[in-house]
Amino acid sequence: MRPTTLELRPELPLCQSDLPLDWYQEEFRPYAEEYLALPDRRPETILRYLERYVDPAREHFGDALLLLAHFYMGGEIVKLVEHFGGGVADSYQLALQARNSPEKKVIVESAVHFMAEAIAILAHPDQTVWITNPKAGCTMELLAKDWMVLPVADQLLERYGDDLLTIAYMNTSGRLKALAGRTGGAVCTSSNAPKVVEWARAKGKRILFVPDQHLGRNTAQRLGIDLARVPMLPAPGAGAIRIEDTAGGLDALDRSEMILWGSSCGVHTIFTPEMVRTFHEQGFEVYIHPESPLEAVLEADGSGSTSYLWRKVAEAPRGARLAIGTEGHFVENAKVLGASRGVEVRHLADVPGFAQSGCGCATMSRNDPPHLAGMLDLLRRGEAPEANRVLAGDVLDDRTLEVDRLDDAERAELIRDARLSMERMIEIVERG
Ligand code: SF4
Repeated sequence: MRPTTLELRPELPLCQSDLPLDWYQEEFRPYAEEYLALPDRRPETILRYLERYVDPAREHFGDALLLLAHFYMGGEIVKLVEHFGGGVADSYQLALQARNSPEKKVIVESAVHFMAEAIAILAHPDQTVWITNPKAGCTMELLAKDWMVLPVADQLLERYGDDLLTIAYMNTSGRLKALAGRTGGAVCTSSNAPKVVEWARAKGKRILFVPDQHLGRNTAQRLGIDLARVPMLPAPGAGAIRIEDTAGGLDALDRSEMILWGSSCGVHTIFTPEMVRTFHEQGFEVYIHPESPLEAVLEADGSGSTSYLWRKVAEAPRGARLAIGTEGHFVENAKVLGASRGVEVRHLADVPGFAQSGCGCATMSRNDPPHLAGMLDLLRRGEAPEANRVLAGDVLDDRTLEVDRLDDAERAELIRDARLSMERMIEIVERG
């Protein structure tokens, strides 16, 4: 992982908003109370607070400790994690960290649950993976739970048999990654989705693409697949899905090259072609994440993963003006990076009359400084709550924190299948 090059500047206030005390697990409340009583949210103040807990934990675990955060993490926590020797990356790079660093035995992640689970799927048996706040779910994944998708996959498999394979976007639970493995498919991320879909097409297979309809449609369009042959299944969340209720019925499915699951990301669906045109009229180049609607992506100058968007800002010439369509905290950090290089960066939704400008991933932001402090301190003291431990196959209720955990034999089977789908992705990317 390359450092982000972001700086922790004392005068920069944290944009992470405080969570109410009753949102913290009981074990984390003392850390939250102390945090909420701090006089301000400046990095200097937060650093002093964190050092009291992070430094003893780093000393206790030494090189065995690995701190990780995703680019979308709220406020300045990516900088704080980096400051304490951790790594910040996109979901693909995060997933590889445990696998590529066998000397790291205790992995603490500040991001959403499916990302931590992906790390756990590829982890070595003596590595443990922890999430600082297990309530950090993903709204896209929430509408593609295993109990929603697996019965539909069974109907499709009954109709198409071995002709159907599943491509599971990284934003899925391990149980869906295992479905991809079982059906001869692979995992993909927003950066490698075109390569993975091409790989599946070369096999002559029909693809079930879960869960993000926009990434699936954008990828199909980019590869020149006729969108009339990319039907979407009935909307998830409103009861059991029957495949014959797909728009166009079974005929549409029989003619399909790729079948889309109907979930999406609330953070990325806000972008419109009008927003892109507004920024073009002001002389901005526009780059957008492919979880956004196709119409907006088609108007933009380029589309790609968070790493792609970060590179666009990092490599833009002095004086460039860029509007970035993705998660708000990421864009805030990109603005800081741009300003340090004489590049103006704006959020694509920052247009007159649009109230949600700069909206960040609210669930990811639930991993705030008190969660990082508490997690590390509780781990050091051997008192970490089991709900924060992430094992492959876990399904967590993010309200009650009840975990539906597989037994050892079931977990071993899931890891075998899910790993297969992830290893296929890694092979496709590395070969490419
Ligand atoms: S930005 Fe969207 S897709 Fe990404 S973790 Fe947040 S809710 Fe999920």
